[in-house]
Formats: sequence, C-alpha cells, structure tokens
Amino acid sequence: MADPIKVGNVTIHRIVEQEGPFFEMLKFFPKLTKQVLEENRAWLQPKYMSPKDELMLCIQSYLVQTPHHNILIDTCVGNDKPRPARPFWNMMRSDRFEKALAATGLGVGDIDFVMCTHLHVDHVGWNTRMENGRWVPTFPKARYVFADRELEFWTKRNKDDAAQCPWVTDSVLPIVAANRVDIVKSQYTFNDLMTLIPTPGHTIDHYSVQVGRPGADAVITGDMIHSPLQARYPEFGMMSDYDSAQAGQSRRELFGRLCDSSTIMCTAHFPSPSRGRFVRWKDAFDFRPD
Ligand SMILES: [Zn+2]
Repeated sequence: MADPIKVGNVTIHRIVEQEGPFFEMLKFFPKLTKQVLEENRAWLQPKYMSPKDELMLCIQSYLVQTPHHNILIDTCVGNDKPRPARPFWNMMRSDRFEKALAATGLGVGDIDFVMCTHLHVDHVGWNTRMENGRWVPTFPKARYVFADRELEFWTKRNKDDAAQCPWVTDSVLPIVAANRVDIVKSQYTFNDLMTLIPTPGHTIDHYSVQVGRPGADAVITGDMIHSPLQARYPEFGMMSDYDSAQAGQSRRELFGRLCDSSTIMCTAHFPSPSRGRFVRWKDAFDFRPD
C-alpha cells in the first residue's frame, strides 16, 4: 500500500525524520537472550536488524487529516537541541522533517493539534523551535494534547534533575508556559474519528490513537511496541520502559483485541513502511507488514 494511507475519509501521512540502525539489540531489549536472537535472526535480518545486530528504527510523525482537522501525532527529535546522552540526536540540523511535512502540501501553520503519545525525547522534539534565542511552539495555531499523569511525571522528573531529561526543558515546558496544552486523560474520545487508548508501561501514561470508524480504521501505536520481535515476545521490555511488565500487558491487550482484523497498525519505530497488521502466532502475535 502506497503512502499516504486512507481509512474512510481520513488520510494518514508519515513524516520521516530519520531511519537506520540505532541501538544494539541485546542492550535495547534487556530480556532478549543470545539464543532467542539466533532463533529469530533469519527473519529479523536485514530489515529489522543491521549486520551488526543493531535495531533498525524509523523516527517519524504521523499526520492525520480528517475532514475538519490536521493532527500531528508525535514530533520526532527536532533541531538545535542539546542531547549529550544521544550523539546521533545532539544539536541536529536536519531539513528532513520540514521537507516531508511540505511534501504533504501543508505547512506548520496548518496544524490544528499536536498529540504526543508520550513525552520522550524522540516524540516531542518539533513541539518547539529556536527563535531569537527562545524556544517557541513550532506550530503557531496548534493545541498540544498531553496525558495528565504523563505531563505530571515528566514535570516532576525535570524539576528533580533537569539534566536527565533536557527535552522536557526545551520541548515540553515551553508549550506549557505558552498556554498551548490541552491536558486530557489517556482514555479520551477526541472526536467522532479519533480516540485515545491508554497503553501504559513504556511510560507512565502512554497513549495510542485509534483513527477512523470500525471496518476502516487504523491505530497509531506510539511506543507501545518498538520491534516486531515484541509481537512474538510481548514480555520483552525495552531499556527505557517505566514498567516493562505493564508494557507487556498493554501489548497483549491491544494486539489480542485487534489481531486478525482489518485495523491497520501504524507503528512509531518499525522500519518503512512501519505499518501492517498483527496476527496470532503461537501464544502471542506476529507482524505482517503492508
Ligand atoms: Zn520513541
């Protein structure tokens, strides 16, 4: 299926900022053993795992166009941001995000809402941009939709130790200060075409977004999954999870409900095209890309 994706009267575009190998598999998934890695090597390589056993990741936003609104879900890493702990994201100067947005025919002034599935570094970056030495909202008209406990958690974490989460300082708090935030519950009916679904575990109050109507719908998963390996092994947490056991439950619940259905799953981080469907596999699931 070619980009963009259509579900009913909703169009979904991918806005890709980066794609490639990022982290060593065995570090990224602490419960992954060498034996299980070998058992799965044949299908993981080369698409999902590099020759050096690194996880292949896409860093991207989803732009959802309904008849009434343009909604951007997650905002990648962003430019000019100090990320000393992540050299590949430190002080980026990339035009890829802006060019990909322009290719949809829209500009920053056309975005009505920005939804952040969670407040991690690679999901909030383009919330702001540097203007005259200040961080200002990138999308001048947009309301930003954050889950209440997620915002509370990261605000406190930033207050306790800002150096551990610099993205909160430059990409979250300036949005709060500009009075642009709509604080919602992670279980929330946004409108007749979009519903927030709580998928906690990766972070304290992570949400996914269901788009469309039954029979013609998609789920923007966010980071409730990072690799198809976690469909086969839902209990494999990733290194920066808040609660990996809860994240595993979220995967079993969502995929249990939507596997073997027509719902298109649009993942945040799987390599392009990043979307497909989950099917039953043994006592878990398997991913079938579109
Ligand atoms: Zn992420």
